[in-house]
Amino acid sequence: MKYSKQNPILIVGQGLAGTLLAWQLIRQGQEVMVVDREDAVTSSKVAGGIVTPITGKRLVKTWRLDEFYPFAKEFYRWVETQTSSELYFEKPIQRLFKDPDEQSEFDHRIKEPGFARYVLNRGVPDNHGLLADKGGFVMPGAYLDMNRFLKASRKFLSETDAYQNGEVKPEAIEILTGGIRWQGSLFSQLVFCEGWTKNPNPFFDWVPFKPAKGEVLEITCSGLSEDRIINRGGFIAPLGDGKFRSGSTYEWQQLDNQPTESGRNQICEKICSMTDLPFEITDHQAAVRPVIGGSKALLGRHPGEERLAYFNGLGSKGVLNGPFLSATLADHLIKGSPIEECVDVRKNL
Ligand SMILES: Cc1cc2nc3c(=O)[nH]c(=O)nc-3n(C[C@H](O)[C@H](O)[C@H](O)COP(=O)(O)OP(=O)(O)OC[C@H]3O[C@@H](n4cnc5c(N)ncnc54)[C@H](O)[C@@H]3O)c2cc1C
Repeated sequence: MKYSKQNPILIVGQGLAGTLLAWQLIRQGQEVMVVDREDAVTSSKVAGGIVTPITGKRLVKTWRLDEFYPFAKEFYRWVETQTSSELYFEKPIQRLFKDPDEQSEFDHRIKEPGFARYVLNRGVPDNHGLLADKGGFVMPGAYLDMNRFLKASRKFLSETDAYQNGEVKPEAIEILTGGIRWQGSLFSQLVFCEGWTKNPNPFFDWVPFKPAKGEVLEITCSGLSEDRIINRGGFIAPLGDGKFRSGSTYEWQQLDNQPTESGRNQICEKICSMTDLPFEITDHQAAVRPVIGGSKALLGRHPGEERLAYFNGLGSKGVLNGPFLSATLADHLIKGSPIEECVDVRKNL
């Protein structure tokens, strides 16, 4: 098939990374063609989709939160208008402390400049069904309905002739002086947004992947409030109608998409540490997160082949970090704007 588009950019993969990049390029008037092999299970399809501003035992603000958080909200709202779909839901997150140390850490952090703006409430208001004896706080947060986001985006792309089901094998692309040829069609540039794959892409096989398998459960739990996400070493996120998604696990050896008994037990333990209400498991999924050493995404052009580029390693913060980083890459591809060293794939060679 020959595309009639003018110098489209070929995006390989329509997971979170490829979809974000496609939207950023489209927003700037750039033609794209997105090709995805439609794997039944991917990191994006399994993800919790949650944006958690303050994380970990040390209660740290996530990387560049003040920039990325409003940026992500504005971006997803824009995609909602393009697709006429509701995709991004702002939901407060009830963080429950594990032990008195976390309470002390919080008392210390709250004095840091810029921290208090991410605290909506101290304590655990409306603690029905929650194991809140160690205290906690409420922060703003959000949830991207990832499957709806991927589907609505695919529909938009298909309707504008910018989507194709298929696999782009690196050996099947031809690098020409004026562009890239794949399946007889010409593209100005190609961006690999493949997530984690067992066989490393030969053009970017130096990227230091540290993939982490994760599992999630879908549960029903009547009686648990649905107006916020609960967080303590894991999450319980309301999906509506008494349904919740809960996770997640981290496993670095067994890198496959198979749900395991051990994963299920770990998540059940997390749930039982947050609520004493009875629950029932209705679904169980697993996938491998594309994590790169240093836990930062990498993006940019190939060091030797200017027309090949890369966007990967969104890790466990893709929903929050992805919009800003994909915009950075779009600016680089279209206008040649610089990429910061810490996320530049060339600097990691
Ligand atoms: C259990 C779990 C929970 C998570 N929870 C959260 C969360 O709460 N918040 C958050 O922000 N992140 C979360 N994540 C992480 C999030 O899923 C990832 O950051 C993000 O979805 C990765 O997207 P990606 O597009 O890079 O990769 P993928 O989702 O793997 O997408 C890659 C796509 O490319 C396609 N593809 C690959 N190679 C080719 C090829 N050669 N040709 C054509 N198509 C190809 C694949 O079929 C796939 O569709 C979670 C992940 C897991 C596993």
